[in-house]
Amino acid sequence: MSTSPLVIAIDGPSGSGKSSTSRGVANRLGAAHLDTGSMYRAVACRVAHLGIDPKTNPSDAIEVARTCRLDIDTSADHDLVVIDGDDVTEEIRYPETSAKVSAVATIQPVRDALTARMRQIAANCGRIVMEGRDITTVVCPDAQVRVLLVADPAVRIARRQAELGEKVDMEQVIDSIVRRDRDDSTVSTFEQPAEGVTLIDSTRLNLEQVIDAVIGLVPQSLR
Ligand code: C5P
Repeated sequence: MSTSPLVIAIDGPSGSGKSSTSRGVANRLGAAHLDTGSMYRAVACRVAHLGIDPKTNPSDAIEVARTCRLDIDTSADHDLVVIDGDDVTEEIRYPETSAKVSAVATIQPVRDALTARMRQIAANCGRIVMEGRDITTVVCPDAQVRVLLVADPAVRIARRQAELGEKVDMEQVIDSIVRRDRDDSTVSTFEQPAEGVTLIDSTRLNLEQVIDAVIGLVPQSLR
């Protein structure tokens, strides 16, 4: 396995399979993994804990993004997200957090602060798979491999439902996919990939096939 520096950037909407794909690719290539959505989610949690309404008081939300201490486990098979000493690994996945995150993520100075942290993490890791919504275009436009992963909305909803289990409230699942697509539309629309970005439509592919497709884009000397 190569030890040369390598950045693989994977963008996509929620339910496109980017998390499982990114982790699988990172495992196969012995690379770190960074779910950049978890950083926005952690900041949204901290902002809420502090009683800040990001819509009426964006400057306090910006201050949190700039000054918080954010510790994220970047190993591909382990999750740990701690913000200002508070373990939010589970809380960041709550539907209430999903509903709050776009309000924080659409504040440009929040994005600038987190983008700088993402680049720092990538530089420290050397070999990394980064997933998000603007990794191929803004955070790491020079990544050796850049992928936009999409899937039909019906498939994305079904996957999220399978992930959350049977007791899940379907309205909440549909809302978390459809409404978040809309709320995030100022950040990314995913209608078409930026120049140099490879589009992979996972609607009719299983996870292994998607992982193989991404690995197929990595130059042999970097695998
Ligand atoms: O990927 P995930 O759905 O967990 O991301 C949560 C939210 O974080 C997104 O809905 C979006 O608002 C924001 N996000 C972003 N840019 C990224 C990653 C996530 O704006 N690179």
